[in-house]
Amino acid sequence: MNATALADLSADDLTALLDEQRAAYEQLKAQGLKLDLTRGKPSSQQLDLADDLLRLPTSTKDASGVDVRNYGGLEGLRELREMFAELLWVEPEQVVAGGNSSLSIMRDCLVWMMLFGAVDSERPWGKEDKVRFVCPVPGYDRHFTLLESLGIEMVTVPMNDDGPDADAVAALVADDPSIKGMWIVPTYANPSGAICSQDVAARLAAMPTAAPDFKIFWDNAYALHHLTEEEAKSADILTLASAAGHPDRPVMFASTSKISWAGAGVAFLAASTNNVRWYLGHLGNGSIGPDKVNHLRHAEFFGSPQGVRDHMARHREIIAPKFAEVDRVLTERLGGRAVATWNTPTGGYFVNLDVVPGTASRVVALAKDAGIALTPAGSSFPYKQDPDDTNIRLAPTMPPLAEVTQAMEAVATCVLLAAAEKAAG
Ligand code: PLP
Repeated sequence: MNATALADLSADDLTALLDEQRAAYEQLKAQGLKLDLTRGKPSSQQLDLADDLLRLPTSTKDASGVDVRNYGGLEGLRELREMFAELLWVEPEQVVAGGNSSLSIMRDCLVWMMLFGAVDSERPWGKEDKVRFVCPVPGYDRHFTLLESLGIEMVTVPMNDDGPDADAVAALVADDPSIKGMWIVPTYANPSGAICSQDVAARLAAMPTAAPDFKIFWDNAYALHHLTEEEAKSADILTLASAAGHPDRPVMFASTSKISWAGAGVAFLAASTNNVRWYLGHLGNGSIGPDKVNHLRHAEFFGSPQGVRDHMARHREIIAPKFAEVDRVLTERLGGRAVATWNTPTGGYFVNLDVVPGTASRVVALAKDAGIALTPAGSSFPYKQDPDDTNIRLAPTMPPLAEVTQAMEAVATCVLLAAAEKAAG
């Protein structure tokens, strides 16, 4: 490892480094690579883990004898709701099991709040002059594009290691009634891997808000997606909010997209019984019931909450080495150079790489020209605008391990080259 920070190099050494990186980059381009670290998708090896689903369910009836092939049961299969209630630390009555996408449930909630208002709204959000959401950054790009598509403005706060900056959130929501909600990915955040502490969650649950119908969109997409044996437990937001006198503030979302199959899993909503009634009321206007056959085959496949946990351990065996490889290559290639910082997540699907401010777009462009697809710079910010042009989201789960190594070697070259170019002016 070469451990001299770029800023400490003499002009000659910097020129030498720049020449060296340019040469390395030309060699890289000559390899004609075609690699992709863009989206947090499970690899086919991970998807294979759930292939028994293809032969399930073995029955056409649920535990109470209801024919799952028929209409009905809007809230979803009882036994699957019970299983995930335990895993999400809520009560079965607070859980709805739906289609395959939790993002669609989030969209439905937002659209219905805009059109009809939430349980505690004075009027539909769409009738307000302005609707705004607090967005911890960096965050999940699809949260931001969803808000943008509905004309909901975004206000950013920093995402810290223990969750969103609670002081910043509290200050924003205290006086501004147009701020109707906030996003949070509480466990293994996309992309920072941060885990929201019990303390931060308690503050968000209890803080005074100018909007009486303020909502926390608690997107627990990675609640069970541990990369180490130390399994972080998400803060119990529903109980915290209830205890603080705001039972209807949080709405939790989760899915088996990265547990069973990303395209054919089951998504969940969990909230106060009041919110669940609100949700089902609107859902019932457009559905006579969910895909209970899929619910039943998931219930049969996992068998129990422990079955889900055991299954996640098998995912971990496949993907943890890929995350370790990202860290190894970055450490070996960039350690001591002071050109980048990155996290070593203990769960979730992403590594957050911060490069020299002003060079993230250049790094992504260099990588693209060398055949490595990275998530566009700025994607983890509202309106795709990273004010410092520093953040790059890496998603190592999908490519095979050998490709992760190749891609990360390439990324390291691009980061160094962009940093050397900048330092050389
Ligand atoms: N929420 C977060 C934070 C995600 O990262 C993703 C997928 O990357 C989703 C939701 C999508 O979930 P689903 O497949 O259930 O729609």
